[in-house]
Amino acid sequence: MEMGTQVSGSSSWQHALVSSIEVGIVVVDTNFVIEQWNQFMQNHSGYDLNDVRGRSLFTCFDDLDEAWLKNKCQPAVEMNTPVFMIWEQRHYLFKMDTARPVTSPAEYMYQNISIFPILCEKGAVEKICFLVYDVTDQAMSKMRIEGLNQKLKEISRVDGLTQLFNRRYWQERFEREFKLTIRSKKPISVLMLDIDHFKKVNDTYGHQAGDAVIQSISKLIKKATRETDIAGRYGGEEFVILLPDTTAENAYTVGERIRKAAEKTLVEHEGAEISVTISAGIAEFNAAYTQPLLWLEAADQALYDAKNAGRNTVIVSAVNTA
Ligand code: GH3
Ligand code: MG
Ligand code: MG
Repeated sequence: MEMGTQVSGSSSWQHALVSSIEVGIVVVDTNFVIEQWNQFMQNHSGYDLNDVRGRSLFTCFDDLDEAWLKNKCQPAVEMNTPVFMIWEQRHYLFKMDTARPVTSPAEYMYQNISIFPILCEKGAVEKICFLVYDVTDQAMSKMRIEGLNQKLKEISRVDGLTQLFNRRYWQERFEREFKLTIRSKKPISVLMLDIDHFKKVNDTYGHQAGDAVIQSISKLIKKATRETDIAGRYGGEEFVILLPDTTAENAYTVGERIRKAAEKTLVEHEGAEISVTISAGIAEFNAAYTQPLLWLEAADQALYDAKNAGRNTVIVSAVNTA
């Protein structure tokens, strides 16, 4: 139990152990004045025990929050109960260099901390001992995996050819927005867009040229929409755009912008210059759409009407114009 006497080295093997162990040991009195500090702490903080002995812990680590740490140590001091802290909650308690400053991407040591009381012979809490475990490698690999998972998640949402959202993820977002829309008074519109006579492009110039056209239309869509709009590739040469805070009239303006831009665009592919047009159908949300699919079908019907009206046309669903 007499941790203090162990650290000060009554026995040489205990002293050797405390010096060489790859765990930081800090002993303070109940006023947080430093009494002991092992080799590990010296190596990583840069302070010798003689520099810090008798000083308050809070003057040695100036970003240590005094009120917070005292509160955290309360169970150890008042109830003789150990306290544990893990790096996920707080990256470090004592800001120190990592063990491998050159090879590690971490700027400082990530730490798990154990705090426990040291009792005097009468059984009262006399000192507090902090054990500092360097978990930098573990933290780095966990964060790297989390970063990779996040990237994978993003990749799984995106269509490879166009970098727009893929159908599955777009639908997920559409359904989420639908649920929010039912309770909101704000207008919101959905636009469905399809390239006209696209089969002809493939037949005349080949599938790769077709892909280049799809990419070029996707770029126009990105350019014409806002950050808050949710654009996806719904099928081969079919696109969907969900336009929050947008009336059918304003969505029509967006549709027309894309239509005119498409009409003007020449896609160059292996010496050929390809021009296409697009058609689009728009449906603003309406209480009559009790299911997300009904709303989307209204846009699809408007798109069908645009095709029948001769293509290169944008049409707003009649439900909203009536
Ligand atoms: P419409 O004006 O009525 O839309 O005529 P369309 O020729 O565009 O008709 P449709 O929608 O039936 O044709 C779509 C074609 O798009 C059929 C398919 O071979 C082609 N397609 C689907 N996905 C891709 C793709 O990823 N790349 C290419 N190059 N072609 C695709
Ligand atoms: Mg088409
Ligand atoms: Mg189509």
